[in-house]
Amino acid sequence: MCGVIGIIGPENNTESNQVPHYAALEAYQAMLTLQHRGQDAAGILSFDNSCSMFFSEKDLGLVSSVFEQSAIENMTGNMAIGHTRYATNGGNNRRDVQPMVMGAPFGLGMVHNGNLLNHFSLAKKLTHDMKRQLLSANDLEVLLHFWSHYLLDGEGVKEDSFSFDNIKKAAKSIFDTVNGGYAVIGLIAGEGMVAFRDPKGIRPLSIGRLKLEDGGYKYCLCSETVAMNYLGYEYMRSVAPGEVIFIDLQGKLHSAILTEPDAKAAPCMFEWVYFSAAESVVEDKSVYTARLDLGNQLAKKAKILIDNGKIDVDVVMPVPDTSRTSAISIADYLDLPYREGLIKNRYVQRSFILNTQEKREKAVELKLSPIRSEIEGKNILLVDDSVVRGTTSKRIISLLMRNGAKHVTLGITCPPLRYACYYGIDFPNGEELIANERTIEEISDWVGADRLIYLDETDLKQAIGKEDMCMACLNNEYPTDIKEASEFAAKRKITKDNDNISFLGEIRKCAS
Ligand code: SF4
Repeated sequence: MCGVIGIIGPENNTESNQVPHYAALEAYQAMLTLQHRGQDAAGILSFDNSCSMFFSEKDLGLVSSVFEQSAIENMTGNMAIGHTRYATNGGNNRRDVQPMVMGAPFGLGMVHNGNLLNHFSLAKKLTHDMKRQLLSANDLEVLLHFWSHYLLDGEGVKEDSFSFDNIKKAAKSIFDTVNGGYAVIGLIAGEGMVAFRDPKGIRPLSIGRLKLEDGGYKYCLCSETVAMNYLGYEYMRSVAPGEVIFIDLQGKLHSAILTEPDAKAAPCMFEWVYFSAAESVVEDKSVYTARLDLGNQLAKKAKILIDNGKIDVDVVMPVPDTSRTSAISIADYLDLPYREGLIKNRYVQRSFILNTQEKREKAVELKLSPIRSEIEGKNILLVDDSVVRGTTSKRIISLLMRNGAKHVTLGITCPPLRYACYYGIDFPNGEELIANERTIEEISDWVGADRLIYLDETDLKQAIGKEDMCMACLNNEYPTDIKEASEFAAKRKITKDNDNISFLGEIRKCAS
């Protein structure tokens, strides 16, 4: 999972009559609002048509630490793309940081959010058959090579004949070649900005615009609407699954949907449950509203247990931050007090997206402080959005018990995560998941809860208000072909804990 942003506007800067640098600046500002999607690295790439140059700044670390103000000011041009990285492919090193650039044709830049499930077979094809050298272990580089190949279409695109048809053809070939979940934004030097989303629309992408005084528009493409809202752009819509968009340097927007009209979409349910910011809208559904509704569904289940005397609840308490919204609606529904018994240290990263078990365990210990007066002697309904590896839940329940809780019922606003994700959330090995091959009672015992309540799939669909979603990690029904999944998972296991890896995901033989 990562955050992507693209900004494109007019070439002239009417106020100062200077080369514009608003695109990189706006990308930077937007990336601050997308930081929750990835905290491993950040990067911006702008293109200045007046001097025909790319400008790039990227490094490991948070957005606020990667960019100096002077660096942003030097990134001129009317179009820029930005990326906040959560490594789900490749290593956690500089070589794999996005955006990535390629010199031909035209000069291409690219960022993406997601995973290429057939990354390794495509990498083999590039290196063995097409005689290309890869410089990173990041699947974006593979995507960028195929993009450049298809744009050239074997014969070479002439600048004077370049049109949206070239882009449509190249995007269609990408959809036919690349299996996975991917939301992509790219720059084409001297031409404009392109964006496309995989045919199932697994990873999110939205488009917005801002009206200019001369009647023209600036455009913003981003993973989440929180970014465009922050910049003052008006939300237009979600980019459709299998859609390709091109905004040329004259500000004209071209778009085409390249999938069959009856193709089923499969946006990731986890965006509403956990990943997206509460203030975002994903696929036209408010994340905040979805979380209130997820809470209502869970409250109905809890009420039956309370009425039947199976559980006692004095207070409803969220695991901050994502679950707060659901916990409020649960407390309302049950007419019970809502209490914040755990305070989050905002300077510790989200534990689930840290890349090693050791870092995750450390983060859980550091990130939550208990308020004993709200915990002692209470029967607590503790609300969380998901149980992934179980580490966080186990430690939090132990923290509550050590602070005098009487009983803890754990309520989860999602069904059990039992199967691997190959589309950009970092659990490609199902056996990492606590719910994999365990009953609900066994999970409850493992995390130390008195009782565990999960939503089921019907509750989830009702709360989000969508029938067609990817729920593969819940039900093992994958929206794309998974014949390369075991190879993907095996390579990821290596790349996750080892920076010394080749582009094919193997430990480097030449390493000292
Ligand atoms: S498998 Fe789960 S986490 Fe992965 S894309 Fe599908 S719903 Fe989202």
